[in-house]
Amino acid sequence: MNVAEIFETMEYGPAPEAAASAQNWLKEHQPFQLFINNQWMPPVSGRYLDSINPATGKSLAQIAAANSSDVDAAVAAANAAQPAWGGLSGHVRARYIYAIARQIQKHSRLLAVLESLDNGKSIRETRDIDIPLVARHFYYNAGWAQLMETEMRGYGPVGVVGQIIPWNFPLLMLAWKIAPALAMGNTIVLKPARYTPLTALKFAEIVQEIGLPSGVVNIVTGEASQVGEAIVKHPNIDKIAFTGSTEVGRSIRRATAGSGKKLSLELGGKSPFVVFDDADQDSVVEGVVDAIWFNQGQVCCAGSRLLVQENIAERLIAKLRARMERLRVGDPLDKAIDIGAIVSAAQLKEIQRLVDQGVAEGAEMWQPSWACPTEGYFFPPTLFTDVSPAASIAQVEIFGPVLVAMTFRTPAEAVALANNTRYGLAASIWSENINLALDVAPKIQAGSVWINCTNLFDASSGFGGYRESGFGREGGKEGLYEYVRPAWENEEAAQQEEPRADEDEAVEVEEHGLNGMNGLPAIDRTPKMFIGGKQARPDSGYSRTIYGPDGRSIGEVGEGNRKDIRNAVEAAHAASKWAGSTTHNRAQILYYIAENLSVRAQEFARRITRQTGRSLSSATEEVQATISRLFTYAAWTDKFEGAVHRPPLRGVVLAMHEPIGVIGLACPDDYPLLGFASLVAPAIAMGNTVVVIPSQAAPLSATDCYQVFETSDLPAGVVNIVTGERDVLGQVLAEHDDVDAIWYFGSAGGSKMVEFASAGNMKRTWVGYGRPRNWLDPFQGEGEEFLREAVQVKNIWVPYGE
Ligand code: NAD
Ligand code: MN
Repeated sequence: MNVAEIFETMEYGPAPEAAASAQNWLKEHQPFQLFINNQWMPPVSGRYLDSINPATGKSLAQIAAANSSDVDAAVAAANAAQPAWGGLSGHVRARYIYAIARQIQKHSRLLAVLESLDNGKSIRETRDIDIPLVARHFYYNAGWAQLMETEMRGYGPVGVVGQIIPWNFPLLMLAWKIAPALAMGNTIVLKPARYTPLTALKFAEIVQEIGLPSGVVNIVTGEASQVGEAIVKHPNIDKIAFTGSTEVGRSIRRATAGSGKKLSLELGGKSPFVVFDDADQDSVVEGVVDAIWFNQGQVCCAGSRLLVQENIAERLIAKLRARMERLRVGDPLDKAIDIGAIVSAAQLKEIQRLVDQGVAEGAEMWQPSWACPTEGYFFPPTLFTDVSPAASIAQVEIFGPVLVAMTFRTPAEAVALANNTRYGLAASIWSENINLALDVAPKIQAGSVWINCTNLFDASSGFGGYRESGFGREGGKEGLYEYVRPAWENEEAAQQEEPRADEDEAVEVEEHGLNGMNGLPAIDRTPKMFIGGKQARPDSGYSRTIYGPDGRSIGEVGEGNRKDIRNAVEAAHAASKWAGSTTHNRAQILYYIAENLSVRAQEFARRITRQTGRSLSSATEEVQATISRLFTYAAWTDKFEGAVHRPPLRGVVLAMHEPIGVIGLACPDDYPLLGFASLVAPAIAMGNTVVVIPSQAAPLSATDCYQVFETSDLPAGVVNIVTGERDVLGQVLAEHDDVDAIWYFGSAGGSKMVEFASAGNMKRTWVGYGRPRNWLDPFQGEGEEFLREAVQVKNIWVPYGE
């Protein structure tokens, strides 16, 4: 080809990156052993697996196949190392993490080539996106280690964390997990994905090179059924951090239920890419390329559902097809290709299966006219139009370069379509009308929202899902809380000695029963349940008797059942406008509840004494603490705000605190009034609506509250109270798909049940494991821990520019 011809066709020539250094490094090191206690250990099984180059289908290196004995050794090393690592000053940990970041930069090209070889992603992406972000995560978290003593006061490390990561961003996912865990003083056992272990093994070498203390980071390669499951079940691991499929995430939720292990799950997605008719269409086309053809579409937050306003759909689809025709699929090490290889033969087959299914279901499929390389695992960019929102390709995560397009007419329809998924990881919104975009962003249920941009990531800005995309955040300050525990939890919780009621104090408490005053039958005051702002009789038609400590009946409450819970959840949903009320307004209502409670303080104190046998002065202290607690959350309502991040781009990221939705609350038995208010107040302060199961033994303090609510301008349905057996009702709540989170402060067994049953829709859980918590102590009974559980962070990316 001569210059004139090149000028005519504007064809790219091949621009291959040299692989020799990486190949040599692999040759020198393989077979790869396990990295335990800063040493390379052969696997107990003596078995090795191949790591494949998906662009050729050939083996790159042999890696050790660990089993549970190797995991035991790694966990033992991590446990031995943890006290010393966690005991270092934040500054010393910061120095180590900083050294890791520097070393990654020094070896950046080797890491980029290794990643490209092992995963099949393009060198352009590993060089310009993956590896720079890896370094950035270590730098950013070195900073948090430095600041931990002041900025995370009252928190300590969780201990040993087990981390399980997927193959799509092998080193980046390692960085997202290891950097904050190290910063907060934890030690680590990490399992790389079966297909892509090589950069993690190079990382292990970096750990050795910088002299990180032995046992702080351990890398165990092998199969999920051997290594992954052993990590999940290990009794000496204190937290599991997992990124991968929703299916495996659900099984991990069940396997860890009740174990007391902390858990964060980053799962799948089917993210909407919403285009309004005033969007800049050429930018949109480039955005779509970055949304669904970045990393061959093997991106959990890929914009895989293109939602276009109907009046521009035809034109936009035509432009998109023209662009697709010019995309280049090929050798990942060629710097001029757009799309590399699919990670494995199995993944390629699965993509083909879902595409065939889409065709069979009647959607229109379009692919460019050119053919993919036949050696290795390649799949062409693919576009489906005429897709019905219920079609499997519109609902199932394909995890490949496949885009499905649908149309909408109005912004409201766009939001409804966008939310028509069980996932909630990310969304992209395209419009030149920033007011419209910022109005739509909070309405889409997703952890990250990109306005006129897509697939942007930074260590400063948290990432994570709503709904079945998992829970927990990685990045930002919020990501640190996944790797710490309140310090008081580690201290022996002091047993509270409660004085019993004096004989004569008890006398002034009014009698209940059929004998009223003056020999007349008493007027029955049996409290009902409280649903949708109305007093409701139990569906069952049964009541349960509440006994005082002396064994005498002191009243009856409704025996709630499944139907009552369903009605309460429905009422809580119907009250979702509460989330949109102003924080000033919500604060006013909390103050008003406190005011009305204080008017009736004596009556509430007597009721506590009747139910618990505690002295009137102790009961009065509880009522006063409840009033103070309501003030605390009234105060926080307009102050627990989000943040504005400045990642390294021209623009801002708005980290907004959003309510979770409907929260089920199971109250502790001790402190019948304070325990109830300690859960209800932070939840509703942040804009959630709640279904509350009061103290099972002493529910009357909670049911007395509905009269307080009725006089405090609290809108109907914001607080719903269902009395009855805590674990029976708690299970119904945990299994309910329209409940978004559960807080449970009953027994250890009940905590396990709640965590297990919540795996259905992956609702967030916060349980007490039956451990004592001193509700009177402001460090244990109120504050930011409660507020954080009441919100989820949405990061809205807003780039600047013309
Ligand atoms: P996967 O769930 O099969 O595997 C993820 C990891 O878990 C791997 O290391 C695997 O070996 C391990 N694993 C598998 N079964 C296990 C078990 N029973 N116990 C313990 N560990 C087990 O997912 P994948 O195919 O590797 O990755 C693709 C999926 O990951 C996609 O669904 C994608 O959406 C999701 N993903 C999510 C994010 C996120 O941040 N939310 C990021 C990347 C990928
Ligand atoms: Mn590989």
